[in-house]
Amino acid sequence: MTCEGQSWQAGDLTCAALNISKERVGAIADGAGETSGFPWVSIFPGDARGCADDLVAFRVYIRFFLTKCRPLTASEGDALDEFNFRLPNMEKVLYRPESPRRTLLPAGKNGFVITFVTAEAGDECVVVPAVEAPTFGDLLLLDFMLALHFRGAPRQCASCGVYFRPIHPVESYCRDCRAGGERQRSRSRDAMSDPAAAALKRATGRVYTRKSRGKITEEESNIILQRCHQRHGDYMAGHITLDAFIEELAKL
Ligand SMILES: [Zn+2]
Repeated sequence: MTCEGQSWQAGDLTCAALNISKERVGAIADGAGETSGFPWVSIFPGDARGCADDLVAFRVYIRFFLTKCRPLTASEGDALDEFNFRLPNMEKVLYRPESPRRTLLPAGKNGFVITFVTAEAGDECVVVPAVEAPTFGDLLLLDFMLALHFRGAPRQCASCGVYFRPIHPVESYCRDCRAGGERQRSRSRDAMSDPAAAALKRATGRVYTRKSRGKITEEESNIILQRCHQRHGDYMAGHITLDAFIEELAKL
């Protein structure tokens, strides 16, 4: 099992392992998918089934780490302690003697051979590690442990569920969702730059506040809100001027 990462950053392999579909895991097991999803990993010929088994076990245990242990703890180290504390029990539940590689994490006692080679990265020639690992599972675990060490362990996107390698320690959304969120925020900024929409928002906000403080009843608030939206409609239709609209809403 050799990994020659073109621009390998700790956590990349873990994300790839957690994000690939079950169908692709199956394709790796059949030898058809070879290294699909892991561009720089060469899998020993003849060990395709074992690699898929490693992948299955890794996904179960590391998801458990990320979703059950990490939220309880304040740091990566505490999370790993919590994980190690729960591990024996988890292994007891998952272990199947007929398929140990599929049901246990690698024990981590096997040796790695790490050398450095040069590789093309775009127009540049860069120095990259070439890792020879005893098994695919060992390689994945090495990637995950390095990610923990560098405080960049993958997180699950709160919006789309994809696992991603955070650039800053506390990031809840993957790059795609953040880009989408930015588009949405700029749309709502556009809305705020529309003075009529801003006036409507201020007026309805005041009504909700008054209602929540018990100064007006639900029924009264509904009447005022209806009036706000009705007058906004009148303004949009050109029946009243912007100044008149804003002035009227301010009085409601
Ligand atoms: Zn996302």
